Amino acid sequence: MDKIKRTKIRQLLDDGKVGVEICVKGWVRTKRASKNVAFVALNDGSGIRNVQVVLDTEKFDEEFVRKINTGTSLSVVGKLVESQGAGQSVELVAETIDILGEADPELFPLQPKKHSLEFLREIAHLRPRTNTFGAVLRVRHAMTYALHTFFHEKGFLNLHTPILTASDAEGAGETFKVTTFDLDNVPKDETGSIDFKQDFFEKETNLTVSGQLEGELAAMGVSEIYTFGPTFRAENSNTTRHLAEFWMVEPEMAFYDLEDTMDLAEEMLKYLVGYALKNCIEDLEFLEKRELDEEKTKPQNERNELSLLERLKFVNENDFVRLSYTEAIEILKRSKPNQKKKFQYLIDEWGADLQSEHERFLVEKHFKKPVILFDYPKEIKAFYMRQNDDDKTVGAMDVLFPGIGEIVGGSQREERKEKLEKRMAEMDIPAEELWWYLDTRKFGTVPHSGYGLGFERMIQFVTGMNNIRDVIPFPRTPGNCEF
Ligand code: ATP
Ligand code: MN
Repeated sequence: MDKIKRTKIRQLLDDGKVGVEICVKGWVRTKRASKNVAFVALNDGSGIRNVQVVLDTEKFDEEFVRKINTGTSLSVVGKLVESQGAGQSVELVAETIDILGEADPELFPLQPKKHSLEFLREIAHLRPRTNTFGAVLRVRHAMTYALHTFFHEKGFLNLHTPILTASDAEGAGETFKVTTFDLDNVPKDETGSIDFKQDFFEKETNLTVSGQLEGELAAMGVSEIYTFGPTFRAENSNTTRHLAEFWMVEPEMAFYDLEDTMDLAEEMLKYLVGYALKNCIEDLEFLEKRELDEEKTKPQNERNELSLLERLKFVNENDFVRLSYTEAIEILKRSKPNQKKKFQYLIDEWGADLQSEHERFLVEKHFKKPVILFDYPKEIKAFYMRQNDDDKTVGAMDVLFPGIGEIVGGSQREERKEKLEKRMAEMDIPAEELWWYLDTRKFGTVPHSGYGLGFERMIQFVTGMNNIRDVIPFPRTPGNCEF
């Protein structure tokens, strides 16, 4: 007999024809056996819905059916029929079943019940077998596709910036070092310092913390680029919004001022949310229900006022508030949590760095809308941001989202060579090492801008997942590098 081509379960449930013989393959989610019949819910990750496979126990002996358990992988050939039961319109009546791989029910860690997200993180190799991670991974893919589409349609070029680099773009020193030295026997120079001249690149190198500086070089020739790559930061902050390895999208645009940049960021975020609403609705509905179930265990004041889908529509349909840092500080100073000393970090003067609690107050309590803050004090921002005429602020902008805080951080870049060099000197950024960056200001400099979107923070917003560890397949955080 000719081999029947495999049909994906999602396709079968969307437009499978009743009466036609088909083959599906997947993993058993649940099995219910009664006297003459067993029902197996099979999922292959193509969508959130399972197909119900019906086994006539006269055709399949008891011993065989006993081997089919949660986690078992099957190849099933059968005919699609209208379903008698509630919950599905069609089901698959099995004619032949091959067990591809057994899963011992005594040992398989995923039981047909709800597991905590913390537990699932410990078995990240099996997480993709769950409804929640399947949905997250599908949404994550959709957002990747949407990002490339968005920028492609605008004429941006996707630029591959290096992962190995000698620069620490943020100057924050939170880099992972890269070396081929034998760590038990590191070469030293006459002064006793590590002799990086003997290392692979003949200089000190690290994993990239941002593709921005290299992105700027390309934008200064092809006008509009975006990077989308892994980013590494050895910041020891164990929060629900930080990873040691995360993915960042960094557009960089020649001839854009700060306002153009805010416009682009807002348009991009709305495009992504709109794309998800249009193309991922089944997964989003599942994730919305998951969130509602989870919130039942939380006190009222920690629950979201809006459901997941309501939040997504809200972002999509409303203009973001645009507010200067100075105005934000005034609001925060006068705010209730500041007056009543409820903030962990109290705001008492202009110049304070904003913490996530302040960002979330502005977004969730004060404006109840996404907020774009701009013109920050130069002291709390990076050396490359464009200096404003007031001599106090730089043309920076951060987009703040409900439940997340900062999702995008960007700025107009300082394109004036003297001003840039002066600021670098003030901030102890070694100009000799960044000669190639300064060269773009030396030859044909132009006003330009860019920003970074934390891709996982965006996925958190779109999926409603609280912890950033649950929106990336293999999270890297302090102490965690298994799998
Ligand atoms: P934060 O203040 O939240 O630590 P940042 O100001 O250090 O962020 P930027 O250097 O502006 O971040 O990076 C741009 C974007 O990358 C941020 O807006 C955020 O969405 C994301 N991001 C930054 N650090 C991390 C991280 N450790 N894990 C995940 N995403 C991150
Ligand atoms: Mn930032």
